Amino acid sequence: MIKASAKLKLKRQLANFVWEFTFEMNESCKLCFEAGQYIAIIVDPKTRRQYSIVSSPLTSEGEFILTIDVKPNGVSTNLLMTLNIGDEISFIGPIGNFVLPKTLSTNLFFVATGTGIAPLRSMIETLIFNKSNLKHNIHLHFGTRNINDLFYTDLFDGYFKDGSIKEYVKYLSRESSPETKDGYVTQFIPGLSGEIISDSQFFVCGGTEMVKSTEDMLLEKGVLVSNIFHEKFY
Ligand SMILES: Cc1cc2nc3c(=O)[nH]c(=O)nc-3n(C[C@H](O)[C@H](O)[C@H](O)COP(=O)(O)OP(=O)(O)OC[C@H]3O[C@@H](n4cnc5c(N)ncnc54)[C@H](O)[C@@H]3O)c2cc1C
Repeated sequence: MIKASAKLKLKRQLANFVWEFTFEMNESCKLCFEAGQYIAIIVDPKTRRQYSIVSSPLTSEGEFILTIDVKPNGVSTNLLMTLNIGDEISFIGPIGNFVLPKTLSTNLFFVATGTGIAPLRSMIETLIFNKSNLKHNIHLHFGTRNINDLFYTDLFDGYFKDGSIKEYVKYLSRESSPETKDGYVTQFIPGLSGEIISDSQFFVCGGTEMVKSTEDMLLEKGVLVSNIFHEKFY
């Protein structure tokens, strides 16, 4: 773990309240992280806020990307929204144990709501870019409230179309659309067969309520606790 600073290189809006921030490390400094880990931004001497790194370590030479839900409108999201290109942040990192385990099952289920997709995108792209890992079936279940909250759709549609990921299902909990399922991201769980479950791992990220209900449903279905990995954002 290092304490370092990085300059804002790019800032773009992805969805209603979601912004993507690309930061560039100082030339002398590199962030050696594992897919799924996060940094803690030092907002002021007494305040730190954690953000998962969305980019893959395999593509992040000297820079890293964060995907941030600015809706909380708190001390950190306000600071981030007022940053201009070239402005610096201080942070510590990388931190966290929410990473891909050394031994991977055949079926890898990634389940996220909102910006919970961030560490999962890093993991999924690391698996895709590291071609030796392509023997795994990657399933992505991604939920938001409304259609305007969805993001990275073209990216994951592309991975689905070129066969890099086996399944990509989008869920909306508050409205309907032809390309999405109505309801919660957990609705694929009851249909999982015992055979699939016996060779699967599950990576879950989002708010506490969503992570807890996903975990409860997986455990009820007979998934071993050791095959469930999670990160809670709030
Ligand atoms: C390990 C870890 C990784 C994280 N990674 C990310 C990330 O990649 N992207 C990201 O957007 N956030 C992430 N978070 C959440 C982030 O650290 C902050 O909590 C969030 O940005 C709010 O900070 P704030 O200072 O602006 O608001 P605060 O004043 O701290 O919070 C205001 C209120 O909003 C709630 N809240 C926080 N986040 C959300 C949310 N997404 N939706 C609804 N309510 C929320 C808090 O519980 C609090 O009640 C992560 C949290 C953890 C613990």
